[in-house]
Amino acid sequence: MTCMQRIELIQGDITQLNVDAIVNAANSSLLGGGGVDGAIHRAAGPELLEACRKLGGCPTGQAKATPGFRLPAKYVFHAVGPVWRGGGHGEEELLASCYRACMRLAQEYGVSTIAFPAISCGAYGFPVERAAPIAIATIAQALKENPKLQKVYLVCFDRATYQAYQEALTHLQGPIDAD
Ligand code: ADP
Repeated sequence: MTCMQRIELIQGDITQLNVDAIVNAANSSLLGGGGVDGAIHRAAGPELLEACRKLGGCPTGQAKATPGFRLPAKYVFHAVGPVWRGGGHGEEELLASCYRACMRLAQEYGVSTIAFPAISCGAYGFPVERAAPIAIATIAQALKENPKLQKVYLVCFDRATYQAYQEALTHLQGPIDAD
């Protein structure tokens, strides 16, 4: 199976997924927020906030792990994406760094399945057309070095996100698999 065949696009709610780890698009306090962060905290229960408090925050471009508590997922990897400020402030590199950090945690925790939301593409304003190829290329690169990771789900909450990812997958399939 090629790297790209281990990446799957799905539309839905990440909190419902029965995977080893889900990624949270957190803010640097790790103390909860809106969007996917709020949904994950609601579904995981108050123990998640307690666990996050002990982590002491997380810098942009990095990620930290907690248990999943009441979620079907065993772990939550809390990644802090960049706020979009026009593209000239290292946002693309910081976004790639987030995906790499989560893929490192996946290796460290020995997960076989992981699901990502579109980090930074909600309240943080990162254009999804620019984020999607970064997410896919970074994940594909890390997959080459982690044979244990069988499946990476890219979870799109809405149709527009799904379409942007679909488009990026189509464009990257050939070049990445040939690499
Ligand atoms: P950020 O602050 O990093 O932009 P958001 O949570 O605002 O994070 O948005 C990130 C992405 O997660 C957006 O595409 C948003 O539509 C999506 N999202 C929101 N809720 C969920 C959910 N329950 N499952 C999956 N994706 C979600």
